[in-house]
Amino acid sequence: MQHERLLKVLVIGDLGVGKTSIIKRYVHQVFSQHYRATIGVDFALKVLPWDLPTVVRLQLWDTAGQERYGNMTRVYYKEAVGALVVFDMTRLSTFQAVLKWKGDLDSKVALTNGRPVPAVLLANKCDQRRHGLCPKLPKLENFSREYGFVGWFETSAKDNTNIDAAMACLVKNIMSVE
Ligand code: GDP
Ligand code: MG
Repeated sequence: MQHERLLKVLVIGDLGVGKTSIIKRYVHQVFSQHYRATIGVDFALKVLPWDLPTVVRLQLWDTAGQERYGNMTRVYYKEAVGALVVFDMTRLSTFQAVLKWKGDLDSKVALTNGRPVPAVLLANKCDQRRHGLCPKLPKLENFSREYGFVGWFETSAKDNTNIDAAMACLVKNIMSVE
């Protein structure tokens, strides 16, 4: 018998880093240059065949512009089992906000065993590398390990770089928790 696992996954980070674009790319295989702030609570569903008996229903929660205040409500975090923390590699301030977002996440949700929910760090807009601040970025490998991320990826929602890989890494970590 097949059974389903519903996973609530959050996509957090500063305004304009590409959260909505990453979700759209992953779920609908599209990208648009046009900036449209998300209105209302929004989530998208992606169904992933996992192993023989298990189907994963990945529920990706977008933010609705509230991220401009730098944190989200407990209701938004409630029952989340994982998160993508996104920054824009062309804007240093969005990288500096990463730890604030990780702190917001860990203060408002945890696994039932009290451990932090798995979080993957995304350095988005890597297609803009030439405008980027890569040399100024601390080594993400060390950074992500030090601050408790289960992995990190340079991504581009525009070019579809590493989006699937980042999601697969997160889901693998979530599914290995229990
Ligand atoms: P959000 O506020 O975090 O949801 O960010 P959006 O997804 O709305 O994206 C903000 C802007 O960045 C939009 O103009 C997007 O087209 C653009 N954008 C998002 N991802 C990428 C990317 O990977 N590369 C480039 N070049 N632009 C991106
Ligand atoms: Mg958005």
